[in-house]
Amino acid sequence: MKKIILFLFLLGVFNVYSQKVFDTHIHGEKDPSAQMLQLENSGVYKAAISTSWDLQNTYRKKNSIELLYGLMLPCPNGKVPYGDRFCFSDGKEWPDIKWVEEQIKIGKIDFIGEILNQYYGISPSDKLLYPYYELAEKYNLPVGIHSGLAGPNHGCPNFRVSMGSPILMEDLLLKFPKLKVWIMHAGSPFLEDTIGIMSVYQNVYTDISVISNPYIVSYDDFRATMKRLIDAGLENRLMFGSDNGDIKKAIESVDKLDFLSLEQKEKILHKNAEHFFKK
Ligand SMILES: [Zn+2]
Repeated sequence: MKKIILFLFLLGVFNVYSQKVFDTHIHGEKDPSAQMLQLENSGVYKAAISTSWDLQNTYRKKNSIELLYGLMLPCPNGKVPYGDRFCFSDGKEWPDIKWVEEQIKIGKIDFIGEILNQYYGISPSDKLLYPYYELAEKYNLPVGIHSGLAGPNHGCPNFRVSMGSPILMEDLLLKFPKLKVWIMHAGSPFLEDTIGIMSVYQNVYTDISVISNPYIVSYDDFRATMKRLIDAGLENRLMFGSDNGDIKKAIESVDKLDFLSLEQKEKILHKNAEHFFKK
């Protein structure tokens, strides 16, 4: 009996650690070590982080999780939404383009994002963003664009629902055809627009953060959304993301999708992201 219990215990442990997860959407937290430990314990081996530049730099010490570093912009009133932290120490909303290129060259920026255009009240195809897209295209860096809605108390008076639809990405996709773009939060609730854009533009991926968080979106809604995305033939371009939500619950949401094969789950949990972020 004891042996059986031990076996089941080991099986449980094995299951937790056998699942490889690439979290494409995390932000900074007060206690980075605790955050990293929690992610690691849930099977996350790699994550893409974006937060204020100063806080982000504190993550650059050796972590057990491999991190990819982003560049948040534009920052409404200079700040990261949902708090008082300045994106950049000089309080600017837009980082100096020459400085950005320098940071890319010395390997400090792996992707451009989270693009906060919706919080700023402009379209993702606004020309103010073009210099940054140009750099991203030049250095083959992915661009992650916030889409859909937002949580309460984001503190950005210019936030516009109408600026959150992925359909607005079409102009930038035409202007920068080689750019690797990912729609953050799957554009929910503008799902048909996400599918429209992704069906035509093969270089566009999406992360499933927020929609996989059962405390924000019901599991039934998540299930229906994932079914639509899979039925639309997008299984190679869906990427897991937690956006600092309950990581275990988010992974569980994917695991519970009974219409997915094991192979499809692996693609969503890490393989698609590996392909997308490949340098
Ligand atoms: Zn977002």
